[in-house]
Amino acid sequence: MLDIGFIRERAADVQRAADRKGIKLSVGELLAVDERRRAQLRETEALRAERNRSSKAIEGLLREGRKAEAEREKAASAAALAKLKALEEQLRQTERLYEVLMLQVPNIISPDTPDGADDRDNVEIRRVGEPPAFGFGPRSHVELGESLGIVDLARGVKIGGARQYVLKNGGLLLHRAVQQLALDLLHRKGFDLLDVPALVKEGTMLATGFFPGGRDQSYAVQGEDKWLAGTSEVPLVSYYAGEIIDLDRPKLLGAASACYRSEVGSAGRDVHGLYRVHQFAKVEQVVLCRAEQDEGLAWLERLTANSEELLRLLELPYRVVAVCGGDLSAKNHKQYDIDTWMPSRDDYGETHSASLLLDYQARRSNIRYRDEDGRLRHPYTLNNTMAATPRILIPLLENHQREDGSVRVPEALRPYMYGLEALRPET
Ligand code: AMP
Repeated sequence: MLDIGFIRERAADVQRAADRKGIKLSVGELLAVDERRRAQLRETEALRAERNRSSKAIEGLLREGRKAEAEREKAASAAALAKLKALEEQLRQTERLYEVLMLQVPNIISPDTPDGADDRDNVEIRRVGEPPAFGFGPRSHVELGESLGIVDLARGVKIGGARQYVLKNGGLLLHRAVQQLALDLLHRKGFDLLDVPALVKEGTMLATGFFPGGRDQSYAVQGEDKWLAGTSEVPLVSYYAGEIIDLDRPKLLGAASACYRSEVGSAGRDVHGLYRVHQFAKVEQVVLCRAEQDEGLAWLERLTANSEELLRLLELPYRVVAVCGGDLSAKNHKQYDIDTWMPSRDDYGETHSASLLLDYQARRSNIRYRDEDGRLRHPYTLNNTMAATPRILIPLLENHQREDGSVRVPEALRPYMYGLEALRPET
């Protein structure tokens, strides 16, 4: 949520952000509704004051025994009350419309965000590591998962329908090992680690900026005011909702959680294997820092570096891209994605997403802190994937495969996998 004063001042920038992000919103209409709301509010307050004055006058007249005048005043007061009631109803309607429009207003876009319509227009910033040159015909993670006996897609679909999977033995170990390595890295970097609800209230989804736009991307619990969160960014940011927090040091939060996504709109895309599934596990990083541009930008770099450190430990080639305007979600101000090399796609595939939201999310969530001058302000929030699995199993299995059909386990994962050096085909 942006401040209405800010929207008034920067109406052109806000409209441009909506246009670039492909969000249908007229800032002009919002400002007109806000104008109407404030006029109706002023009129309502004036009528209320008039009613108070009139009540007191009636009391005085009655005390003085001036009955006829009191009756005239009462009639005038009743007419004013009817007018007030009608005006209050109009104001309620205007406020409802105002709130609906305000929730649709996207965050402004950083000046260095590239132009573009979708992820094909994202701009590569750096590449790290070389895609492997196999001296044999490499297998896809689907083939490897089957031959190693660690991924059972058919039974996943049998149990849960399309885009479901079962991980077995080495598959489960790898899935858990990546998450534990990610959590350990965050712990060493001073993050508080939390176990958080994946089942959240509708208000929590609205406050973190995932709703109203993303309703169709989420699963609702029938008959309850509850949704399955698609990321622990939702509960992690909401951890401080409605609070005044101490930001002498930034809040660094990490969580491992199950994530649920309907993936509406991606029918027919990435239907093969583990790339796009309905349920996955993610270790997420969330930071709340002071509302200073330099500090926010520095944390975006640091959160990105944390994920890069993990990818280097996993010995995977990757690239960092600056996400373009058309690929930015409504709530994001600036975003980097990390794409990891996936041999079966003969391309990089997105595995991480780091975002700076300025105070957009904290304002909606009513999170505040006191700055050096004692002023209450909304902090900046940031988030980044530390590890999302099973998607990360795709590059892990495919890049580390060997000619004999085995898959080398990177050294950094072995302590979490009973020292296993490789996953070997079932005999
Ligand atoms: P996001 O929160 O949408 O930025 O996604 C963060 C990361 O979660 C992505 O970079 C992927 O690694 C992973 N991810 C997102 N959606 C899915 C999905 N449907 N299936 C598997 N992994 C996903």
